[in-house]
Amino acid sequence: MKIAFYSTKPYDKIWFETLNREKYGFTIDFLESPCKESSISLARGYDAICIFVNDHVTAAMIEELHQMGVKGILLRSAGYNHVDIGAARGKIEILRVPSYSPEAVAEYAMAMLLTVNRYTHKAYTRTREFNMNINGLMGRDLFHKTAGIVGTGKIGQAMIRICQGFSMDVVAYDPYPDKNLSVRYVSKEELFRDADVISLHCPLTDETEHLINRESIGLMKAGIYLVNTSRGGLIDTSDLIEGLLGGTFAGVGLDVYEEEEGVFYEDRSNDIMMDGELARLTSFPNVLISSHMGFFTREAMEAIARVTLENARDLEEGRVLKNSVLS
Ligand code: NAD
Repeated sequence: MKIAFYSTKPYDKIWFETLNREKYGFTIDFLESPCKESSISLARGYDAICIFVNDHVTAAMIEELHQMGVKGILLRSAGYNHVDIGAARGKIEILRVPSYSPEAVAEYAMAMLLTVNRYTHKAYTRTREFNMNINGLMGRDLFHKTAGIVGTGKIGQAMIRICQGFSMDVVAYDPYPDKNLSVRYVSKEELFRDADVISLHCPLTDETEHLINRESIGLMKAGIYLVNTSRGGLIDTSDLIEGLLGGTFAGVGLDVYEEEEGVFYEDRSNDIMMDGELARLTSFPNVLISSHMGFFTREAMEAIARVTLENARDLEEGRVLKNSVLS
């Protein structure tokens, strides 16, 4: 099997090259280019393409891949909202990595919460300049505060365990509650009203797009913490900025952003920031933004490489496609 690997970063190669050489022997060409309309022709002659979260594959691109004889799209991610699934049916297989390390993302969500709450990032820069003043760095206890978890799948459950470890009272919302989970499910509105901390762990769908908007922010207590390690589109950015200006949020941690495509994962430090909302968000002292890196642990990277290459082998050998997003 020949695989065109889009959006390659040095850390991808470490895991994929080693494992492929040891176990699979596919021909993988690592391309730095993201997968987009102007670069889709690079896939000619390949059996599959391998893409990451900000490689947006449209219906037109799927048609082109189909015409070129490409049989599969290997996603190095669990989420698949960046691919037009409907257009792929009957034309091309789409295989994902359903679970690699839920703990990696949940632990990162808690890290973001602790950082925006306790200002460890600011303490770090202050002490490096020998500024030992702690003015402005006062946080709040999490002990016995209410954590509202939206989405109780693999990552949401890991986050619930972490919050319970902090002796937080945990409430959750999920349209498909897990009966075996020791958590109190409440309505979405109740969660927005009661939580001191909200952490988002649901997928981006038509139903969840802009779940956090003016209306839901209006239900929240003043002084709430919001963490989004799921997908940027869950939050209406303009409404979030309005909420920040209105003082609703004590802290916001964003590992994802609705317009992150083409910006996250790149070094744009010498460019003028053209996205006014992102510029505004970075200007708030109580907003912490990171570049979609919740997944980024050694354990997760190893698992992503292993499952992706296993998916390629299933496709090549006509096995049952257990990780197909089309079934
Ligand atoms: P999962 O499929 O195990 O769980 C998702 C849960 O969301 C399910 O329980 C589902 O019932 C629930 N859900 C569906 N619709 C909902 C709605 N309208 N409201 C509330 N809950 C709803 O997925 P997961 O592995 O836990 O991943 C969750 C999300 O995390 C993914 O969709 C992905 O977007 C994101 N993610 C981010 C990173 C990162 O690096 N930041 C890494 C991996 C995954």
